[in-house]
Amino acid sequence: MQVVSSIDEMQSLAGEFRKQGKTIGLVPTMGFLHEGHLSLIDLLRDRSDVVILSIFVNSTQFGIGEDLEKYPRDLNHDLELCGERQVDLVFAPEDSQMYPSDYSTFVSEEDIGKGLCGLARPTHFRGVTTVCAKLFNLCMPDFVALGQKDAQQVVVLKKMIADLNFPIEVVVGPIVREPDGLAMSSRNEYLQPRQREGAMVLIQSMQAGKKLVEEKGVTNVERVKSEVMSVLTQSSVVRVNYVEIVDRRTMQVEREVESGRSLIVVAAWLNEVRLIDNLPL
Ligand code: AMP
Repeated sequence: MQVVSSIDEMQSLAGEFRKQGKTIGLVPTMGFLHEGHLSLIDLLRDRSDVVILSIFVNSTQFGIGEDLEKYPRDLNHDLELCGERQVDLVFAPEDSQMYPSDYSTFVSEEDIGKGLCGLARPTHFRGVTTVCAKLFNLCMPDFVALGQKDAQQVVVLKKMIADLNFPIEVVVGPIVREPDGLAMSSRNEYLQPRQREGAMVLIQSMQAGKKLVEEKGVTNVERVKSEVMSVLTQSSVVRVNYVEIVDRRTMQVEREVESGRSLIVVAAWLNEVRLIDNLPL
């Protein structure tokens, strides 16, 4: 497995791979890898000749006062996991190369990223689209694997790829969960034992909403949302940010629940740790 930190070297290697007619798959991550990240590698192995995993804690997607400095990092362990999972190349650039001090260009999707997480984190998706545009130019992937865990991010990035004509196919991987149902996330690391236990309520609340739809045939969005809310608010450690039922293809709020299309999305704080999750209806 090759490990590259120089952006120039990455770009010329990607150019070489392409000249040799090899297809490239990219898994963009911020590192501190868990099974959720690793499952995305598996999705690309059959599709691409070269699998690249990038590790970069992207400063531009963190707002002021967010957890950039304390975001968990363990490059050596990440490299071990990538080696075991047969990644061909790990790209781990330096912040100073990705964003030199005179850096001044941003890519911004202006619609889908405004609502939901965009309300609590107004500059977040601009950072995500900017870093992904840069990673796409450096790694030149044919395929990019993204996790359904970040449902809004998937839709924002698909839109950016379409709008800016990147010749890239997006492959979306299902949410990988802990045995008790909590969606895996590098940020779960921050949870104290009491919060960790309380975090289960996210999936439980969405399952209660889904049950109402599947077993009672309810299609009224407000009824399903209030069922989800009532489970979430039973927990004393959870502070709800949002509960919505959206169209999974556009992230626009639904008027009526539509099986196969609607998605329950939730975001909540457990103390200062903000978690998101979603469940299809
Ligand atoms: P991150 O390192 O948090 O930026 O995540 C990198 C990629 O891994 C994103 O496409 C995420 O959606 C995906 N990912 C994170 N957690 C999970 C999970 N539990 N299951 C599936 N994919 C995930």
